[in-house]
Amino acid sequence: MTGVAGEQLEFAGLPRPLFPATPSKLAAFDCPRRYRFTYLVRPAPPKGQPWAHNTVGAAVHVALARWWQHSAAQRTPELGATLVRRHWQHDGFASAAQSAAWREQAAGWVERYLQDEQIRRPGNEEPRGVERTVATRTETLSISGRADRIDERDGELVVVDYKTGRSVLTDDDARGSIALALYALASERTLRQRCRTVELHHLPTGTVASYEHTEASLARQLNRAEQTAIDIIGAIDTVAGGADPDEVFAPAPGPSCSWCDFRKLCPEGQAASTRREGWDGLGVLAGDVQDVEQD
Ligand code: SF4
Repeated sequence: MTGVAGEQLEFAGLPRPLFPATPSKLAAFDCPRRYRFTYLVRPAPPKGQPWAHNTVGAAVHVALARWWQHSAAQRTPELGATLVRRHWQHDGFASAAQSAAWREQAAGWVERYLQDEQIRRPGNEEPRGVERTVATRTETLSISGRADRIDERDGELVVVDYKTGRSVLTDDDARGSIALALYALASERTLRQRCRTVELHHLPTGTVASYEHTEASLARQLNRAEQTAIDIIGAIDTVAGGADPDEVFAPAPGPSCSWCDFRKLCPEGQAASTRREGWDGLGVLAGDVQDVEQD
């Protein structure tokens, strides 16, 4: 494996640049080795097999984004299902038949979800953003990310994140998500409108988990993000000082290594987890919900 590539250019006497953070980048540091493989080692190591559950998630996200590009009259729930079929890929599935069955299941999720949305929001108002890049900064971080959807309700912004994993999501998941809190802060800054509410819209069950942040709870999540960034910067500096990157960016093995793109390159991860096939994260057809999170 080649060495660590620095993320920031520094010049003597100049202040340190802000650390460029996205929610997924910060989350990747849950395992420092995975972070290093994803963001620092260049050329990037080859990823493992494609995952069918990621294929499902991608098709649902694309369909729900493209749906808003049509006129209000065209935006029917059935159009959502059509868009899932139009943008379907086959990566990671065991067979063409399995892929087709999941395509229809995902199309059904989206159609039912859009029916529910018509009841929740009968005006079908345009969101303030769809797949919208939002950004903000602190003394340490330059934060950016792409929100699935940003609504405006009662004069405030609401961050909506679509989920397609097996786990049923709760309001506690919405409350505890650093990513959602960062999206709220960045949405408020970019669109110049107050944003406190964050929502997880779970397509397989049609449920919505929600949390209304306070200034204090947003500050707590921002503090967690900054602390992670400080740890990442510290590790990068330690390696730049000559330390062994394999030791500094140590593995954090556990059962979830089954789903890591770099498991093949990681003896510790292999020892801690079961090898999975590309379609093992799919669960069971017809809406059965189990407890493996993805996306
Ligand atoms: S397999 Fe596990 S320990 Fe290894 S890099 Fe991936 S997440 Fe980290």
